[in-house]
Parts: sequence; structure tokens; C-alpha cells
Amino acid sequence: MNKITNHLPTAELQAIDAAHHMHPFTNDGELGQKGARVITSAKGVFLKDSEGEEILDGMAGLWCVNIGYGNDSIAEVAARQMRELPYYNTFFQTTHVPAIALAQKLAQLAPGDLNHVFYANGGSDANDTNIRMVRTYWAEKGQPERDVIISRWNAYHGSTIGGTSLGGMKGMHGQGSLPIPGIEFIEQPNWYAEGGDMTPEEFGLARAQELEAKINEVGADKVAAFIGEPIQGAGGVIVAPDGYWAEIQRICQKYDILLIVDEVITGFGRTGNWFGSQTLDLKPDIMTVAKGLSSGYVPIGASLVSDKVAEVLAGTEFNHGYTYSGHPVACAVALENLRIMEEEGIIEHVRDVAAPYLAEKWHELADHPMVGETKIVGLMASLALTPDKDARAPFASDAGTVGLIVRERSFANNLIMRHVGDRMVISPPLVITKDEIDLLIARARKALDEGYEIVK
Ligand code: PLP
Repeated sequence: MNKITNHLPTAELQAIDAAHHMHPFTNDGELGQKGARVITSAKGVFLKDSEGEEILDGMAGLWCVNIGYGNDSIAEVAARQMRELPYYNTFFQTTHVPAIALAQKLAQLAPGDLNHVFYANGGSDANDTNIRMVRTYWAEKGQPERDVIISRWNAYHGSTIGGTSLGGMKGMHGQGSLPIPGIEFIEQPNWYAEGGDMTPEEFGLARAQELEAKINEVGADKVAAFIGEPIQGAGGVIVAPDGYWAEIQRICQKYDILLIVDEVITGFGRTGNWFGSQTLDLKPDIMTVAKGLSSGYVPIGASLVSDKVAEVLAGTEFNHGYTYSGHPVACAVALENLRIMEEEGIIEHVRDVAAPYLAEKWHELADHPMVGETKIVGLMASLALTPDKDARAPFASDAGTVGLIVRERSFANNLIMRHVGDRMVISPPLVITKDEIDLLIARARKALDEGYEIVK
């Protein structure tokens, strides 16, 4: 058997990959026919593949490589931590410096009184923690019947049993008999697709008020929490109309329902502040974080927990945890990542330079014959593809076919841009420069033009 290295021919790597590697969210049969693109290295905002092509990563991996690829100091911190203490847990009355230091740092950065950190490996299992945590909170308060969590259709909260259940992706629910009991859904605030003749503000308010209707339907004494992404990411970068979140916040407060804000994408600078909750003025009781916490260099996630919730949980033994909760290498890397973000002024770069420039260029794509709407907050952006701009109409073909075509044209032109149905989305590394934004926009426009030629 050949040793597998970057030096093997691409076709050989692809064949071995197809024979043995099951890819997430992929039809492996289809992929096996054409072969996966083999990524061999990366620097800044660029990936390199096994054919030597340089690809602009408009998605920062999976919305996560906030500081960009190839940062040496992170590699050094990881190596040092591996030598000093590669592993220990914090289950049985022990702790260690990386877990302590990161918890303190997160408490300092997080808004409000999110002063407590429960570590996980990523966003999905942090949301699993949240399900158990809010139910335990209410049980400890003598209201164990308060166990329903309300979420939204087309939300994404991960891929574990709990994460999939909290998410509102029907295609995911269909695989594995989900959701678990006790999860209820309201509609999403997607004005472009579902707003009809209402103004965005009227529509946003109506969709937020569905929460109140749902609480009354379920019974306020049965509802533990509401969960939402400040901006739906995997659902297509759906930005709720102004007023939506203020109404959600009001309803949660009125019925004393815990607000879980899932900031797995919006955390750590993506929206131009440390957290999307600051951009949108949200006051979460629990916040889910992952991805940008380590810029994707190692797996880590966490639930950031308010004083109110932590004080109640402190009264019991919370029988929950993962072998790698607070992994020392992951915590050390996350701390170094946060140090880099602070010392290099990456959030200021997003707010003052990259986001305004990308916004200007992104909105210019609205002149394309196939683009019905452009949306952007910070460095997460989407555009809707349509055959009829005035009617905000979807394509008649199977939903997502045109988006897939544009994504494939984009990939062929060395830009990673994702599609969610017929919405195109980007979320580049936060360190992207103006020149790189120009390149991103030029390649996106080329992909749109080529896609238009195919479908018109
Ligand atoms: N929550 C949100 C909002 C996400 O976007 C994701 C991943 O995309 C998750 C949770 C799941 O995180 P992970 O894939 O790290 O488990």
C-alpha cells in the first residue's frame, strides 16, 4: 500500500477517498463519480488544491476560520500545550490553567452576565448541553414540566440528535426519526421568500408574535426556552427585519422564558462586534459558541451561561460532560486565537474596513439579471437568485438547482461560495483585504454570469 501523501496523483487520492471516506452532508455515490477536490494547504484567505490551484475561500471553511489560515503562533501554542499537558479533564474536582484562563476571557468578552462557561467540542454538542441545562434549570426551580424548547423552521443548530432536533431542517428530521419530543417550531423571519405583500417590518413583527401564539398554545408553564441564531446562517444568511428581535426579547421576558442565542457563526467578530447579540441588542440567558472561538484550528465549543442560570445549576450535580470538555490544547488555541483577534484589531478591521467595503461591492451585484435581493451584516452575506425580480419569484425548477449551478461555476472559478436552495452565501475569513474582496466579487459575478447563460 502506498503511503498517502500530498505527492500522490490527485486521481489516486480521490479513488482512495471514494473507497473509504464517508463525507458529511454529501451524496457519496455522486461524489465518487467525479472525485472530491483535494485541499492540500492554506494561507490567509486562500486554499491550495492538489493540482496547484489557488482557491479563494469565501466561506472561511465552514464559517469558522475567522483569523485566516496558516497562523504560526497558534501552531506553536498548540505544540507547547501538547508537550506540557496534552490532556486532562475537569470532571472530578480538577481543573487546569487553559480551561481557567479561557473561561475568564470568555466571561470578560461576552455581553451581559454570561460569566460562566460549560465546554463542548463544537456547536452541536454545546446545544445538546443547552437542552439538558435549561430542562435541569427548570426542574431545579421546582417546575420540571417546563421542558419545551421553541425553535424556528429553517434554523440550524447542529447535527447531533439534540442539535438536529433543535434545528428546523425538515430534510434532517427525516433521517433518524427526529425531532426528539418537546421541541416546537415557529416560522422563520425570511421576508424575501415568505413576506408576501407585507412590509419587512410588518412581517418581522408578525413572525415574532408567532412565538407568543406558540407559548399560549403549548402553555407558558410548559415552555423552558426559545433558541435562535441572531442571523440564520446555514438557512441562507437570513437577516430578520428590524424590530423582530426586540419583539422576541419582549415575549421571552413577559413569559419568563430563557433565551438561548446560538452564536456559533455570529460569534467572534463575524458581524463586526465580538458577538451578534451586541450587533442586534440581544440579552441571552445562554449563548452557544464554537467555530470562530478557535478559528477552526481545533474543535471546541461552549455554552456561555448567565449568573441567573448558573446560580440555580450550582445547587445540584449536573450529570453532563464530554471527555474533551475543556480540552487543554483546544482551550490554549482558543485563547491564542482571541489574543490575536484583540491585538491585531481584527474586529475593528471587519467593522471599519472589510464589512463596509464588501457591503458596497455585494450590493452592486443586485444589478445582475438573476439577483433579486442582496443582504449583508458584517462579513456574512447572501443573495437571492430569481427569474423575476419584481415578484421575488423562485425558480420553477427544483429548489436549489440554479443555486447549485452557480455554486459549481464559482468552484470552477476558484471561489468557494455556498448555496442554500437558490440563495448564494459567503462568509470569508475576517482578515480579508480590499484587494481580496475585489477578487471575490469578480469571481462571484463571473459565476453568476456563467450560471445565467446555462439557465436563461
Ligand atoms: N449552530 C449553528 C448556528 C451552526 O451554524 C452550526 C454549524 O454550522 C452548529 C450549531 C453546529 O456546530 P458544529 O458543526 O460545530 O457541531
